[in-house]
Amino acid sequence: MSGKRHAMYDVVSGVFGYDNIRKHQEEAVNAALDERNILLNLGPGGGTSLCYQLPALLSDGLTVVILPLISEITNETNELSKIGVEYTLNIEQDITKYEKTKLLYITPEQTVQDVISSFGVDAEKITPITNNFERPNLTLEVMPKKDNAQEIVDYVTDKKLNEKTGVIVCLSKLDCEKVFEKLSESGFASTLYHASLSSEERKQNMSNWIDGTVKIVIGTVALGVPKRKEPVQFIIYYKLPRSLEEYFVLNGIVGRNGEDCTSVIMYNNASFEKMQMMLQGMNDTELKKMNEYCKNVTICRHQVLYSHFERVVDKCGSRCDVCQQDKS
Ligand SMILES: [Zn+2]
Repeated sequence: MSGKRHAMYDVVSGVFGYDNIRKHQEEAVNAALDERNILLNLGPGGGTSLCYQLPALLSDGLTVVILPLISEITNETNELSKIGVEYTLNIEQDITKYEKTKLLYITPEQTVQDVISSFGVDAEKITPITNNFERPNLTLEVMPKKDNAQEIVDYVTDKKLNEKTGVIVCLSKLDCEKVFEKLSESGFASTLYHASLSSEERKQNMSNWIDGTVKIVIGTVALGVPKRKEPVQFIIYYKLPRSLEEYFVLNGIVGRNGEDCTSVIMYNNASFEKMQMMLQGMNDTELKKMNEYCKNVTICRHQVLYSHFERVVDKCGSRCDVCQQDKS
């Protein structure tokens, strides 16, 4: 084993604070350290960022990272700051400025052409690695919604989620507050995250959730949830996601450490109508597919979801409400 590979485990625990690294991450990091070109195709929660951050820290020189959204860049660089990794955000003419910097983050809009072409990447020599998108630790549920925030308390109590870390996504600020109130009345600590709070309040609330002071965060958007060391174990949709894509991506928040996790949609006919109204006559084809997914009570939810992404998977057997219903 080379020195760099030994160092990999030291960096994983010493810098990132993880106990271990997943198999596909290790493969990807090794490929990068061997200076092979790789195409890494991971689903949400696949742990992509570690696959380039680790080689960046273990190698000389600068690693360029292109992320599509500024919010993703902000989340990632915030995390890097906390653990003391040097990064930079803009390309400047003077490349010597980057001597100590390990990672350069840019969006596709920034003029990256020169940077990329100077590496002379040969697409034919790319090694593909994939974790095939499956989420064997994720349970998918859709349950009837009564439109009474008490049902959230009941669900959290029934499933013994009060000690777990979770996200509750609501349609409106008012819904967030109703849920917050009910949880508080029942002795469950939670915090709010929505657009009507001041940016300071949002920041404070988010940091309380990230450091684990509060286990449950209630928001109108799924917040571009920053990576946190403590895993997120459940997500409750108290509104209908806009599309199966959004649902799939948001589910990536939970279970990143491979432990069992749950995603539940509380759903009724009004959920669909409310979202349709919000879209104000815009194309609702994707929303209708999401609605069909919720109405389905006969086909394994994992199968329905993956077939939307043109992937064939076996019936989960026990990790969705449809399969669980079949068994009982
Ligand atoms: Zn199933």
